[in-house]
Amino acid sequence: MAKTRIPFVDLRAQYESIKAEIQEAINRTVEESAFIMGKPVSDFEAEFGAFCGAPFVVGCSSGTTAIHLALMGFEIGAKDAVITVPNTFIATSEGISHAGALPLFVDVDEATSNLSPKRLAEFLEKDCRLDSASGRPVHRASGRTVRAVLAVHLYGCPADMDGIRGICDRYHLWLIEDAAQAHGGKYRGRPVGALGDAACFSFFPGKNLGAYGDAGAVTTTHKKAFEKMQLLVNHGRLDKYEHLVEGYNYRIDALQARILSVKLRHLPGWTRRRQENAKTYDRLLAGWEGQLPSHPESVEPVYHLYVVRSKGRDDLARQLGDAGIASGIHYPLPLHLQRAYAHLGYKKGDFPVTERLAGEILSLPMYPELTADQIAEVVRVVRG
Ligand SMILES: *Cc1c(COP(=O)(O)O)cnc(C)c1O
Repeated sequence: MAKTRIPFVDLRAQYESIKAEIQEAINRTVEESAFIMGKPVSDFEAEFGAFCGAPFVVGCSSGTTAIHLALMGFEIGAKDAVITVPNTFIATSEGISHAGALPLFVDVDEATSNLSPKRLAEFLEKDCRLDSASGRPVHRASGRTVRAVLAVHLYGCPADMDGIRGICDRYHLWLIEDAAQAHGGKYRGRPVGALGDAACFSFFPGKNLGAYGDAGAVTTTHKKAFEKMQLLVNHGRLDKYEHLVEGYNYRIDALQARILSVKLRHLPGWTRRRQENAKTYDRLLAGWEGQLPSHPESVEPVYHLYVVRSKGRDDLARQLGDAGIASGIHYPLPLHLQRAYAHLGYKKGDFPVTERLAGEILSLPMYPELTADQIAEVVRVVRG
C-alpha cells in the first residue's frame, strides 16, 4: 500500500492554524495550576449553551458519560428501556446500559440513515403494551418500561425531530439527542442541542468540535434534570466534603474546557468549510454509479462524515488505500450483531436497512482543512 497522502482527518493541520491561541490557553491553565472545575469550565459551559441555544449545560468527561448522565438526569435506570438505533457507535447503547436501562433498537430510514419515525411508531404499537396505571409503553419481551428515545444525528445530519417528537409526546417519552457527531447542525433553522429534552455531545479529538483528549457535555432545557446532572457529575457534591448522593467523577477538566473555548470560536468557520467540501464532493461525484449522501430540506448537516454508498464498497476502499487515500466504515458491524450484545437476543435480519447500509457505506476523507485538489484526487480514484 502506498504511503497515505490524503488522511481521513488532519488534526495537526488544524492545530497549526490556531497554534498561538492554543498555546496561550494551555500556558495560562498551567500557570494558574487550577485543573479541576472552576471558571474555565463554567465559561465553556456558558459559551456552548449559547452556541446551541440551550439554557443549561453540564460539561463532562466524554460523550459516553454525557449519555449516562443525561439518562440519570431524567431518573431513567433499572426496569427501564431506552430506544435507539443499531447503526451507531457503541457509546450510544453503552450510555443506556451504564444507567441500568435496556437498549432497544429500532431500524433507520434508508434515505437518511437516521431513526425512522414510522418504524418507531410501529415498534411502540406492536412490541409494547400500554401500562394502564402510568400510560407508559412497556416492552412486552423484557417487561421494561420504555422511558426515552435516544435519537442519533448520524454523520452530522439531524434526525427527523418533529416526527420523533410527536411520537415521544404521545407515549410520554423523553427525547434525547445523541449529538456527538452534529455540533452546529440545524433542524428547521434551529441548532441541535435544544431540539429535544436533552442532548449529548462528545468532544473526542476527531469530532467536529474536538478537545485534546476526552471530553463531553449535556445540554438541556430542564432545570431539574440539569441540577441532578450537576450533582452527579462531581461526586454528588454540595460542598467539598458534603455529598447529597453518591455520584461519579465524570468532570471535564479545566485544560480541555479552555481548549474547547478557543476551538468553539472557530467552529462556525470550520463547519462552513466542511459544508463546502461536501458540495465539492457532490459536484465532482455527480453521475457516479454509487449513492451520494442526501438530506431532507429541513436539515442543515455539518458533515462530521461524508458517506457514500456502493455495491462494490470493499473494492472501492482497497483502491483508495492503494492510492494512499484513507477511508472508513461507520459502522461495519451493527450493534445488534455485536458479541457484546449477544445477551439481547437479536439476530441477523432483524434490522434490514441497517444491515444493508453496513455492507455498502464508505466514509471519504472529510475535514475543514481538506483542499479542493485533495477532493479532486479522491474523486478521481472513486470514479476510476
Ligand atoms: C463519538 C460518539 C459517542 C461517544 O463519544 P466519546 O466522547 O468517545 O465517549 C457517542 N455517540 C456517537 C454517535 C459518537 O459518534
